[in-house]
Amino acid sequence: MSATQIITTVDFERPGKQTGVLAVPQSTNTSGWATEYIPIAVIRGAPGPTALIFGGNHGDEYEGPVVLMKLVRMLKPEDVRGRIIIIPMLNRPAIAAGTRLSPLDGKNMNRVFPGRADGTITETIAHYVSSVLFPLADLVIDIHSGGRSAHFLPLVSMHHVPDREQLRRMIDAALAWGAPYILLYRDVGGTGLLSGEAERMGKLTLGTEMGSAAQFGVDMLTLTERGVCNVLRQAGILVDHAPEQAIAPSQIMIADQYDDYIMAPVSGIFEPFFEMGAWVDVGQTIGQIHSVEHPFYDPVTVPARTDGLLISRRAFPLVRQGDCLATLARPWSLG
Ligand SMILES: [Zn+2]
Repeated sequence: MSATQIITTVDFERPGKQTGVLAVPQSTNTSGWATEYIPIAVIRGAPGPTALIFGGNHGDEYEGPVVLMKLVRMLKPEDVRGRIIIIPMLNRPAIAAGTRLSPLDGKNMNRVFPGRADGTITETIAHYVSSVLFPLADLVIDIHSGGRSAHFLPLVSMHHVPDREQLRRMIDAALAWGAPYILLYRDVGGTGLLSGEAERMGKLTLGTEMGSAAQFGVDMLTLTERGVCNVLRQAGILVDHAPEQAIAPSQIMIADQYDDYIMAPVSGIFEPFFEMGAWVDVGQTIGQIHSVEHPFYDPVTVPARTDGLLISRRAFPLVRQGDCLATLARPWSLG
């Protein structure tokens, strides 16, 4: 892995609280030495482990950015045993543009890990995260939501990693978050995820799906902020002595079959037959797709190929062939 081109204005070893940027070279037609800034904060207190927390990996998911900007303003070095590194908008160009993918190179930040030192801007940021930041971290949190494309029952997510001890520690941390659900998922939309790379490096890694753009509001933001702080307290990194808030136990679910992810067989307008949280049996019709070109043809029905709880559903009714319409998940335990 070659050296990064990215320069940072923060010193990861210095005690106290610093805010600064990652300076990413981004030459343009009008500015040869132009630089894209990705804000970063480091809060270092007494010796201890390091938490690395990301928001805005996808640009149309604003829950992480809002909660993490507030957290940086709130945290004091005396509240921290160890170090907290926060990047509230990992794909800031996409956050500013309101797009899921980067407007600068068209790439999906969460499909390019571990990245490339000499790649496009999205790839060089991912490479910096993999080669410079991950080695510093014990705990990695990547806050996502469904953005424009999907509604989710609020959940903390992870892959079913092969190391059983790592999986147990990740589930313990996810339980501390206090979201209604924990989901063990598989990659059906491609590989190269930030969380997958952190898991492979043996880090205690948590992702989330905190609702969607349409669910953005007080409840989801409270659940996100409380969850991050709970996980940091459980890890012994946040020692702010704030009163613990009571949380309901999470239900652990798994969607490990390819058929748990139901894709649109044709393009059109998707009419759902189930609300979020409903139980669907194999063979039941989850909805139907009406043709825009042929409005008086019979709609195409979409059957469930597995049993499961409807944990996510397409948010925007217009779908293209191959879009994910729904995800079904079943109760699971580590045993
Ligand atoms: Zn996302």
